[in-house]
Amino acid sequence: MHLPDLNIAKDRTSKENKYIELNENYKKVFNGQKYFLRTYGCQMNVHDSEAIRSYLETLGYVNTEVIEEANLVVLNTCAIRENARDKVVGFLGKCKYLKKNRDDFKIVLAGCMCEQPDFIESVQKNHKYVDLVIGTHNIHELPKLLLELNQKQTIEVYSNSDEVIEGMNFKRDSKVTAWVNIMYGCDKFCTYCIVPYTRGRERSRKLDSILEEVRHLKMNGYKEVTLLGQNVNAYGRDIGESFANLLEQVALTGMERIRFVTSHPWNFTDEMIDIIAKYDNIMPYIHLPLQSGSNEILKKMNRRYTKEEYLELFNKMKERIPNVAITTDIIVGFPNETEEDFLDTLEVVEKCEYDGAYTFIFSPREGTPAAKMKDEVSMEEKEERLQRLNEVVNKYSNKNNQKLLNKVVDVLILGESEKDNTKVYGYTDTMKLVNVIGGKELIGNIVKVKITDAKSFSLDGEYVEEKVAI
Ligand code: SF4
Repeated sequence: MHLPDLNIAKDRTSKENKYIELNENYKKVFNGQKYFLRTYGCQMNVHDSEAIRSYLETLGYVNTEVIEEANLVVLNTCAIRENARDKVVGFLGKCKYLKKNRDDFKIVLAGCMCEQPDFIESVQKNHKYVDLVIGTHNIHELPKLLLELNQKQTIEVYSNSDEVIEGMNFKRDSKVTAWVNIMYGCDKFCTYCIVPYTRGRERSRKLDSILEEVRHLKMNGYKEVTLLGQNVNAYGRDIGESFANLLEQVALTGMERIRFVTSHPWNFTDEMIDIIAKYDNIMPYIHLPLQSGSNEILKKMNRRYTKEEYLELFNKMKERIPNVAITTDIIVGFPNETEEDFLDTLEVVEKCEYDGAYTFIFSPREGTPAAKMKDEVSMEEKEERLQRLNEVVNKYSNKNNQKLLNKVVDVLILGESEKDNTKVYGYTDTMKLVNVIGGKELIGNIVKVKITDAKSFSLDGEYVEEKVAI
């Protein structure tokens, strides 16, 4: 049994890449049994779930959306949001009920929450019926651990994992767009964030392995890849590489659309901006988290930039990358944020006129420095600030969307609209959601669409023609 330890997790130093292959004897051992997988949280978790699916289906499990039919339930948990734990614990109650009198019903917990010692303590004490707990660093051990399960609860969470696993397989959710991990972990230690503890220190995948994965996806008809990391611009610092070079090499594979998330403003270099501007297949869209516009709060958050430095970078991106769209993340109500601090944030939002923003009220994460900070600001005040912020954010996302009215834009069509079967949906190069009148034969194609209506969060359009490759 390996239990999580946040002190070990934050002190990783060595780095090693490990190639894994699935033991041939594991294939199809659970043939015909059914699994139910629920994913909470960010893109990293969504992509981890694609690996979990791949392992389960290689073992012979088949997917079911009906939990009552399942033999195996996997909850891939998230530790970022305050109510995440309540949701998981609530769902576990349902699993416990279904497991009653059934020996063939197993429950697995995976994801960031499993890296938190206090959560694991409560699983050991209050949720003894959970069969297996697995950490974020050893998903590749899932087949072996499932085969070894017995009546006792198994907890395998490797907090001190330094490895970068190569050669993972994924059962991807889409046949058009794909996530590609380029690195794991984060070294920034923003004071409110649990990620450096749950995902570990920055570790980069090898450039050749990433390029091989992208080429393979292209060969299999994928039109878009999103390079994925907690802080992608730190890619390669541990292996003598750079994100700018990686981006350029990925662009040269000829993949039609390339995106990346997430970027930290602190080490976003001029070289990276120039590479984005140089290649048409690197999409002109950047998610650049601001978090706060107050220098005082940015310092308390350990964000390592000032408002002035952020604005300088933002303006550089706007000047050098034609038609770039920039979105952001903002936290309101960080401990002891004053009205003046908040007004600084509003000022930056007014200056940047973001295409969109994810806005949150600060919520403390146990084990982080910000969770211990004194906070005199009332929840009422925080909620009122969030509302004021959202009004400004929505005003500018609407304004930016209005600029596209009657224009013809390229849209990669991803699927059928859930609300209207005469429509399909997709995204512009600037990552704007468009609902398009058209049939499902358009799915998987980049098409020209005339924008007929613009709202704050989406656009409507009419199909004009398929994009002509030059
Ligand atoms: S850069 Fe992002 S992932 Fe890293 S500590 Fe800060 S908020 Fe968390």
